[in-house]
Amino acid sequence: MKPLVAIVGRPNVGKSTFFNRMIGERLAIVEDLPGTTRDRLYGDTDWNGRDFTLIDTGGLELGTGTPVGQVGLTGQPGDLMDHVMAQAQLAIEEADVIVFMVDARSGITSADEDVATLLRRTKKPVILAANKADNAARRLDAVEFYSLGLGEPIVISSIQGSGTGDLLDEIVNALPPEEEEEEEEEEDVVRIAIIGRPNVGKSSLLNAILGQQRSIVSDVPGTTRDSIDMDLEFEGRKIRLIDTAGIRRRGRIAVGIEKYSVLRSTRAIERCDVALLLVDASEGLAAQDTHIAGEIHEHTKGVVVVVNKWDIAQQQRREEREGIYARPEDEIESAESYREVIAEGLKFIPYAPVIFASAKSGYHVKSILENALKIADIRFVRIATSRLNEVVQDAIRRHNPTVIRTKPLKIFYATQARVNPPTFVFFVNDPQAVHFSYERYLENRLREAFSFKGTAIRLQFRPRT
Ligand code: GDP
Ligand code: GDP
Repeated sequence: MKPLVAIVGRPNVGKSTFFNRMIGERLAIVEDLPGTTRDRLYGDTDWNGRDFTLIDTGGLELGTGTPVGQVGLTGQPGDLMDHVMAQAQLAIEEADVIVFMVDARSGITSADEDVATLLRRTKKPVILAANKADNAARRLDAVEFYSLGLGEPIVISSIQGSGTGDLLDEIVNALPPEEEEEEEEEEDVVRIAIIGRPNVGKSSLLNAILGQQRSIVSDVPGTTRDSIDMDLEFEGRKIRLIDTAGIRRRGRIAVGIEKYSVLRSTRAIERCDVALLLVDASEGLAAQDTHIAGEIHEHTKGVVVVVNKWDIAQQQRREEREGIYARPEDEIESAESYREVIAEGLKFIPYAPVIFASAKSGYHVKSILENALKIADIRFVRIATSRLNEVVQDAIRRHNPTVIRTKPLKIFYATQARVNPPTFVFFVNDPQAVHFSYERYLENRLREAFSFKGTAIRLQFRPRT
């Protein structure tokens, strides 16, 4: 979980030039997300041994004219300034360090002053960078930026690369202290994250869960800065809801900041045991739902697919059948057809239970939590090595590995290396000889024998030594 450094400033000061220089060829995190096909805006980088994620806020599409959260609009002509201010506001809310970039060639503009006014109010570290100081005269001119009230400007030229090292030093100095290696694992707390696209009902579900539980234990500041976890008890079990601050915040910010929420949701997924993946019953399955599901699977987490707003889907059906009384079987029919949609769209997580729910009415909210707890327990199941090897040997007998290298694959034995997530190590003659389809076959045999309903499991192949 890397700290976030956001670059803000009005258009054309050189934000993306600086960003590209820092990120270079490195991979941007969200590049392949459906619907986020713009240039890379996020990138991981490091300096002096500290890793952080750099965000070029200039590319964030906030939607013109959309009122974004609590942003105070400037009254400047056009939406452009609203846009810049909204980016700055978001940076204040989401980033650990803010780099405010100005243009040493043009000097201070009123837009710079507006952004500075906003930034002066935050307690987060703000670093002023005067860019385009390509020569000595410009570097001297840059002192005028002192008057923005944000301290000494770091004078840089993103094109030439001068001063950028100093800027990175300042950034690294301002980063929050490095986090502890790993959150200590409290085995009796089940960590649950509520995940989904904007507007699927995450904050509503959070409230429904909290509303059902009288015994909220406490808010626990999470390890990620600004994340608030919430502990509660449900049927005698301890549950920690991960990053509820992120959920609430997303609720009141316009859709355009999806990129921040994407990053946030990735972090929540990393930290949870079981993810509640919300999809919107009234809209069907979106590409982004599939993407998020893939991410949960890749992180080997437990998952409950929650088809939320089921009340709306039911209402729609009733209206379709105008004049005809809704019969109990109607719900079953439509649930079955929705199940098919999910089975097709999320076919890489066939193990996930699907629950039709309404955060609004509370329908099945209890069942969501019950399922999540069950899955959390399944993730701690230990399979005896002897039983495991019976199943594996039987699988091999029934279906020999395909030969994909000159030597056929030989599996000597398997053992469960860890729980949460269930992780199985197979000792083989040659790990490279394990074909993807054979790995899937083995996983399916393990699931037939031991179920692992609701959770991803991990298979690893090691050479026998
Ligand atoms: P953004 O809108 O803030 O992301 O700005 P860009 O990165 O797109 O840069 C706007 C223009 O300024 C481009 O033509 C860049 O080539 C130019 N530019 C960026 N950095 C420098 C610099 O250090 N010196 C000079 N002379 N031009 C720069
Ligand atoms: P978030 O962006 O994922 O946190 O979504 P919200 O919880 O803010 O919900 C978005 C909108 O959907 C709000 O207007 C909610 O009132 C509405 N909503 C959420 N859950 C349900 C539900 O189960 N049924 C209905 N009818 N509306 C819902």
